[in-house]
Amino acid sequence: MNRRKTVIGNWKMNFTHKETASFLEKFKTNDLDKNADVIFCVPFTDISAAVNALSDTNIKVGAQNLYFEEKGAYTGEVSAKMLSECGVEYVIIGHSERRSLFNETDEIINKKVKKALEYNLKPILCCGETLSQRERGIEYDFIRTQIKSALYGISKEDAKNIVIAYEPIWAIGTGNTATNEQAEEMCLTIRNCVKELYVEEFGEKIIILYGGSVNTKTASELFKMENIDGGLVGSASLKDDFSVIVNA
Ligand code: PEP
Repeated sequence: MNRRKTVIGNWKMNFTHKETASFLEKFKTNDLDKNADVIFCVPFTDISAAVNALSDTNIKVGAQNLYFEEKGAYTGEVSAKMLSECGVEYVIIGHSERRSLFNETDEIINKKVKKALEYNLKPILCCGETLSQRERGIEYDFIRTQIKSALYGISKEDAKNIVIAYEPIWAIGTGNTATNEQAEEMCLTIRNCVKELYVEEFGEKIIILYGGSVNTKTASELFKMENIDGGLVGSASLKDDFSVIVNA
């Protein structure tokens, strides 16, 4: 199955408006693999700088969160409509940092995925187990539950616009990349889960990424695995040589 390679940078809370412009003006001069979709998920305050800097390229801009309500008295929150009007095309939903630091539940994540889809934003749906869940041998069941809850009530037509990122929590920001086999096995499990929820053919098409300490050394072997279609990359996407990962 020929799925497009997808490499997404998650900047988290890094880079100011000015730093965004100068980083991306330089980044876009790299010779990037034309067969890869490249997306930068930037802080809200960097969106306009990113959209401007990338307007003459195929590189897309994503956000890192949204709120599931339409509008109203939700101080500090940002809606799907606001993002969409700013030129945002993707949005990370359910990142483990939001689940653990900001108490986002599976139910909240499901509502956010639905709201993003309503505004034609492509959700980058994150899932991942803790080290203790892996040590107890419950990682596969846990991930299947996360995926089923996040996709609850979402039609196949809508689900086509979702990208799934498997990010084991023990690998994020730790320098401990999962082995190629660990990452592949879980991405295959996720693909099979999507096939069960929808149809076989769709499960073959959905883009599934690995994330967790991907770097210029580990990317190419990970991306060669059959069920891994690219990566969600945190700290390494803040460096000039992120292009090496895109081209891996
Ligand atoms: C992430 O937070 O999505 C991530 C994968 O981070 P890192 O690459 O820094 O582990």
